[in-house]
Amino acid sequence: MPKAKAKAKTKAKKEEPATAGLGDKSVEAAERYLEYDPVSKVTWKLGDATPYLYLANIFESIAETTKRLEIAELLTNAFRTILASKPTDLLAAVYLASNTIHPQHEGIDLGIGDATLIKALAEATGRKDESIKNDYKEAGDLGSVAMASRSTQRMMFPPPPLTVTGVLKEFRAIATTDGEKSVDRKKGMIKKLLVSARECEAGYVIRSLQGKLRIGLAQQTVTQSLAHAIVLHGDAGKKKKGAELADALGAAFDVLKQVFSECPTFDQIVPALLEVGIEGLQERCKFTPGVPVKPMLAKPTTGVSEVLKRFEDIAFTCEYKYDGERAQIHLQENGKVSIFSRNQEDNTAKFPDLINGLKRYIKPHVKSVVIDCEAVAYDREQNKILPFQILSTRGKKNIVESEIKVKVALYAFDCLYLNGEPLLREPMHKRREALYSAFQEVPGEFFFVTEKTSRDIDELQGFLDESIAENTEGLIVKTLDATYEPSKRSLNWLKLKKDYMEGCGDSLDLVPIGAWLGRGKRTGVYGAYLLACFDEDGEEYQSICKIGTGFSEVILEELANAMNPHVIDGPRSYYKVSDAMKPDVWFEPKQVWEVKAADLSISPVHQAACGLVDPQKGIALRFPRFLRRRDDKEPEMATNSEQVAEFYNAQANKQEFNANGDDD
Ligand code: ATP
Repeated sequence: MPKAKAKAKTKAKKEEPATAGLGDKSVEAAERYLEYDPVSKVTWKLGDATPYLYLANIFESIAETTKRLEIAELLTNAFRTILASKPTDLLAAVYLASNTIHPQHEGIDLGIGDATLIKALAEATGRKDESIKNDYKEAGDLGSVAMASRSTQRMMFPPPPLTVTGVLKEFRAIATTDGEKSVDRKKGMIKKLLVSARECEAGYVIRSLQGKLRIGLAQQTVTQSLAHAIVLHGDAGKKKKGAELADALGAAFDVLKQVFSECPTFDQIVPALLEVGIEGLQERCKFTPGVPVKPMLAKPTTGVSEVLKRFEDIAFTCEYKYDGERAQIHLQENGKVSIFSRNQEDNTAKFPDLINGLKRYIKPHVKSVVIDCEAVAYDREQNKILPFQILSTRGKKNIVESEIKVKVALYAFDCLYLNGEPLLREPMHKRREALYSAFQEVPGEFFFVTEKTSRDIDELQGFLDESIAENTEGLIVKTLDATYEPSKRSLNWLKLKKDYMEGCGDSLDLVPIGAWLGRGKRTGVYGAYLLACFDEDGEEYQSICKIGTGFSEVILEELANAMNPHVIDGPRSYYKVSDAMKPDVWFEPKQVWEVKAADLSISPVHQAACGLVDPQKGIALRFPRFLRRRDDKEPEMATNSEQVAEFYNAQANKQEFNANGDDD
């Protein structure tokens, strides 16, 4: 097989920070932007549809570097060139670079199975399925196979070139094709795209359809490049240079990040940017009921005394941390109610009981509202919270209320919108007031989270003990003056779990990427699994431990059944695993499992967070134990390598803390 130019990227990028703010590098970058002439790079007729090949070639250049600043510059300049030629093509280019086709909460994803892609590729190139599969096994990346396959094609009447808007339109059509013979129809559409593809295009068509570009282009970089391109294209940006320009670019990125977290739809944001620029964006794109915000998350802490130390001069409150699943409930003016998961998935159909119950706990003056709650399995006879495992036995689709066996109670902890007013930028104490003003408790159905505001160490320790006795995970400590920070793991929210007190740290959410066949009592299922964390920069899964503990026989069988459809021929090119690890089978990254470990150690074998704590070695979990499946998380939402490094460092700090006899 001829070697394709670009290969899926596996190297982590650590050289520069993700954000370009102030500092020499961003000033230098700003100066370089001034040297770039966007129009001169328009190699097609100015104003005509942007060729997909232009973007695919940019992806190729991005694949060849690991430097974040360079990647951001390449993409920013590409967006500028598109803006200079045909601004309305920018939306499609942003979607294609983000490898999405619709806003996340609409739940329409690409992610076509390999079998369909291989068949389409075989038909488009005249190659045999088997030979493509062999190449795939060898290369570990179907995109490279597609690129190499293209070069053997001769075409008498070449079809018209692909365009960025045309490709996005086709992707959307492929993703929404359903019903009779939908697999065949999808295959037909994919084949058509592949037949039209030139040079490296086929590789990116395939990778996009698989759901991942694998060129090391993070969503944050796309957002940054979009903000920068808009500033550089605008009249105000053109007048600035040096530090002033770098400042304007940094500020624009901050605005766009904030707006995107509150209104996560490019369909709204990009046209607004074209019309009113960064300056008018916040006014145009606001948080509205019906569109979920990414949840604010908490940082781990090691004990009550650490909380008191961190929040020495800051007012804070403590709430029970309930163990269920996050439910963001939206009531729109038109009466429509939606429930979104932690993952912005629309879970409305899963909870008809909550939707019907709403009228009992919402006050009559409330016309529109968004609240953040934890939905918890609840025993209404004994009036007690049930463990998370019970909640996970509840059905997920086509739920009929009369058949629901596992009852759920809502524990509300935040109010993000009330009667036409977004409250995200209001302080916590105001949002709490809004929550109390809009709802009333209904025993067994709707509660406000149990909270305590105190600075007394014994009182707080007692509250933590009570929270554990009540079947919750512990506490979340929240500063009372902080705004809601969508999608941030913020220091304004600290989680205090029982496990931290026991010195074994937080659990990790990891992805099974391989397994060993079981022996003896475990014959017929997998006896152990290879788990990985996710590295966001390098877009790779890094092995972190081999796990064989914590599984009941039933669970082992359930997991084997769930994983078997995802067995692949060999490790993907984006798995970072030492040669010493040789599982019997490999899996597609599909699931997330919550795992607890005794501690973390520097490892000669495992690759997690390699380069972050030790320059050469990774981190491994010692004595890992399976806790549960996390069906509410996508593989890329698994614990990331930076968190693994943080856990490792926190453990080292805690040991030091204990050695000084200072801990609680
Ligand atoms: P975990 O794996 O423990 O759920 P996470 O990364 O999903 O961790 P954390 O930052 O640990 O999230 O905790 C926030 C989650 O805790 C929220 O998504 C929510 O579902 C849940 N939660 C329960 N009680 C509360 C509360 N009182 N305030 C905020 N979040 C709460």
